[in-house]
Amino acid sequence: MGVFGGTYNPVHFGHLRSALEVVEKLDLQHLSLMPCAQPPLREAPDCTAEQRVAMVELAVADEPRLGCDARELRRAGKSYTIDSLMELRAEHGDQRSLCMVMGCDAVLDIPRWHRWQELLDWAHIVVIARPGWALPQQGEVAQWLERFRGDGARALRAAPAGSIIIEQLRPLPISSTEIRQLLVTGRSPRYLMPQSVLEFIEQHQLYRP
Ligand code: ATP
Repeated sequence: MGVFGGTYNPVHFGHLRSALEVVEKLDLQHLSLMPCAQPPLREAPDCTAEQRVAMVELAVADEPRLGCDARELRRAGKSYTIDSLMELRAEHGDQRSLCMVMGCDAVLDIPRWHRWQELLDWAHIVVIARPGWALPQQGEVAQWLERFRGDGARALRAAPAGSIIIEQLRPLPISSTEIRQLLVTGRSPRYLMPQSVLEFIEQHQLYRP
């Protein structure tokens, strides 16, 4: 099983399609989108963590292989991924293969994450390519990717944690930033995200100028 962390401010088809493709490519039983309650490295999002969770729940409601994991809302203080992975490991036991999914842009920033070098002690990391971003070719992140790089579903079956799997999925150049900009300027993000999420945004008047 796996988790796909993010701010989801708001969730869009770039997240959802990538999540489903990861499930199918790596033969995962389940993948939960895990909204970050208090992002340690970015400004507080425009809407509440509860609203972001509600939008993710609407977005995955009709796909049984995807879910929403709201555990970071139940912890006080900043939401550190390492804490979530340790909790998940305790819940699933030592033997089960766990993976954490992240886009290429998140990986570039990883040296700023709390205890980042311990993440692989608790889970595998699946890095997905994202239009407009490339993985580093040199430096400490490049070395880290090279050192722990594993071979797709085979690496997941071989051990419960410890490998980095890099996947090229369908490129979908959609971002939450662009969706927020469309809304602020009175344009429509329709067809970039689920209609149910758009209706929630309209109902709660989110992302208005
Ligand atoms: P923002 O524009 O506000 O930074 P975002 O669109 O990057 O938001 P996040 O919630 O920050 O969305 O992203 C959660 C995770 O999903 C990150 O690991 C990010 O790399 C990944 N991701 C986001 N959009 C895409 C996309 N279109 N394709 C692949 N991965 C994506």
